[in-house]
Amino acid sequence: MADQSVTRPIFEGVGTPGEIIFYVLATASIATFGYGVWRRVNKYRRGRPAGRGKTIREALFGHPFAGVRERGDRGSAGVVASNASVARGSPMVGLAHFGVFWGFIVLFMGTVILTIDYDVVRLAGKAFTGHDIRFFHGWFYLIYSVVLDTVALAAVLGLGYLIVRRWLLKPSRLDYTRAAEPDGGSDRSQFVRGDWLFAGGLGLILLTGLLEEGARIRAADFPSFEVWSPVGWVIGRFYEVIGISPSASYTLHTVLWWVHALLALAFVAYLPYSKAMHMLADGVDVLAHDRTATLALPGSAPDTGHAGYTTIEDFTWKELLDLDACTKCGRCHEVCPARIAGAPLSPRDLILDLRQWVDESSGGIAVLDREKRTVEPGADAAIAGDVIKSRTLWSCTTCMACVQTCPVGIEHVPTIVQLRRTLVEEGDMDNSLQQALQNLAGQGNSFGKSARMRSKWTKKLDTKITDARKEPVKYLWFVGDYAAYDDRLADNSRLLARLLTEAGVDFGILYEAEWNSGNDVRRVGEEGLFEQLAEHNIEALQQAQFEEIFTTDPHSLNALRNEYPKLGAKFTVWHYTELLAHLVETGTLPVQQLGLRVTYHDPCYLARYNGVTEAPRRILSALGCELVEMPRNRTNTFCCGAGGGRIWMDDSFLSERPSENRIKEAATLDVSHFVVSCPKDMTMYSDAVKTTGYADTLTVLDITQLVAMAAIPPENEPLEAGVSG
Ligand code: SF4
Ligand code: SF4
Repeated sequence: MADQSVTRPIFEGVGTPGEIIFYVLATASIATFGYGVWRRVNKYRRGRPAGRGKTIREALFGHPFAGVRERGDRGSAGVVASNASVARGSPMVGLAHFGVFWGFIVLFMGTVILTIDYDVVRLAGKAFTGHDIRFFHGWFYLIYSVVLDTVALAAVLGLGYLIVRRWLLKPSRLDYTRAAEPDGGSDRSQFVRGDWLFAGGLGLILLTGLLEEGARIRAADFPSFEVWSPVGWVIGRFYEVIGISPSASYTLHTVLWWVHALLALAFVAYLPYSKAMHMLADGVDVLAHDRTATLALPGSAPDTGHAGYTTIEDFTWKELLDLDACTKCGRCHEVCPARIAGAPLSPRDLILDLRQWVDESSGGIAVLDREKRTVEPGADAAIAGDVIKSRTLWSCTTCMACVQTCPVGIEHVPTIVQLRRTLVEEGDMDNSLQQALQNLAGQGNSFGKSARMRSKWTKKLDTKITDARKEPVKYLWFVGDYAAYDDRLADNSRLLARLLTEAGVDFGILYEAEWNSGNDVRRVGEEGLFEQLAEHNIEALQQAQFEEIFTTDPHSLNALRNEYPKLGAKFTVWHYTELLAHLVETGTLPVQQLGLRVTYHDPCYLARYNGVTEAPRRILSALGCELVEMPRNRTNTFCCGAGGGRIWMDDSFLSERPSENRIKEAATLDVSHFVVSCPKDMTMYSDAVKTTGYADTLTVLDITQLVAMAAIPPENEPLEAGVSG
């Protein structure tokens, strides 16, 4: 068979008038697509620079495969190509999406190749040589056929799975019920219709393409080389079996060709105005994703005269792109502790509310992707307070679960904090929060006690702790407010001091020179107060003499590790569990086996923010404890409800506190102890075991208390057991 005959006719059965109509429609489709993209880009250009150029370059060229194995905990070209972040926690969804993603890309490239062959090379050949020059034949055609057929089949299977899952399995996270006003006030049926239009449209394009191919092969009476189009070949045989003749197949092919072409052109035109926009936005959003922007928050928008966001122009282009990138997959909605606790906050709804507001303020670009509200926020609505309700913003614990789980790199927490800054500026907050901020501003701690009282807990110790401002030490212990001021936790702090002294650790504290680290103050949105606290601490630390820092408080750990370096103060900072793990494992602190059956709660700011998950587990293992993991563990932990300043706010409106939800999770495990490694957790869970009725069966212990129970006492002098739940 001649090489030139191994090909397929283009525009078979369409005729010259049909060809002209097709090109006119294609031009209109591309122009509509271009106009939509132009409007979207113009919208992003209203935003400020995001400083993500380096992030994108790194994601493309610096570490192109980073985050693939970890299922997309950072953005990279590899994460985009592999759909690793979509597969996180849902491998079947990831696989199905991978099929659709690559199917769409390869089929699109196939169309481009065909266009180059037919409309560029052929016409250029005719113009310059007077002959048709084509490359769409022979081996090139055979390989093209088999590749495109394979990816089309993968896309059909993937899309089929996603449609069946949405239609029949109905996972709760795809339910669009709002966290706020769940029983009324909004109509989201357009979202559902938009989803079906998108999925159904894509499915029909794929199916008509394959059916058309089968009809073409049947009409040509199965040329042998067409086995390289295996799916079309099988469909052609099916037509034959059900009695469709070659001539009927020819007509069928023409009809299907037009249906397929019109659907594809309509889809291209509709893409930037609909849910399909995520196909363009998500790749860029993942490449520009920077999780460190949640660890060390960005400052206020410069040169605006206000601390928080009040206009679209205050957002960065990345934050505006985030809004369009959301696929409404509901993963963030599902894991949000505030939403689970019955607060009027869902990170998904927050993004969708902002998206609709920005879209309407930009002239309304999206179609079939809107929510109807009984009371629409008007064009002059305040973003924080009107578009997004104050209670919604104050409900966030900044646990970062939403950022971590979002498959498309959306960064909810920095946006929430920027909006909170506006509320703080307007004084729109709880009285208890206001009081805590006043205490912090006046005394450097949220308890409102004098700075001199900070070291009161040390008074009952046999030996005075070194004052690191006066004498050099190896470790500076940044104690944190709760471990220093809360009387219920002072026993624990003394216990840790005794263990460290016993192990011969050279450490000291800052006494009254230590102030609250400001981590939660910053997340509340009180930027000026954060700077005041941080500057004070940095000055105190710089005047002290030490090599490294350790802290009892994961929130302080985050500030010291991630926020202070942005202010020019870089230190090596450890969590006390890291230090204890070293002491226990090296035998510096000899311990005996406890043989307890325990579970361990990972604090968000320790595990999810700073990746410290194994040190506490190593301690438990060294103490001979049987660790029974809760389903939500390590970086997938569940927030206690105290973060982001929530510990200073009223939580009486919640249907179930996150800490109570967590205790109930632990109570199913048949363990005797609930082990924590954060002073705030000690407070939250000691209360929660009582309010849930598990105080008799579940004892809340700080890991320090366990180590003290196991430590072999020097010269028969027992280490005290400390407080318990
Ligand atoms: S940070 Fe946590 S509490 Fe806040 S919106 Fe995200 S998941 Fe919800
Ligand atoms: S914000 Fe992210 S995780 Fe949440 S619904 Fe949108 S895409 Fe899904």
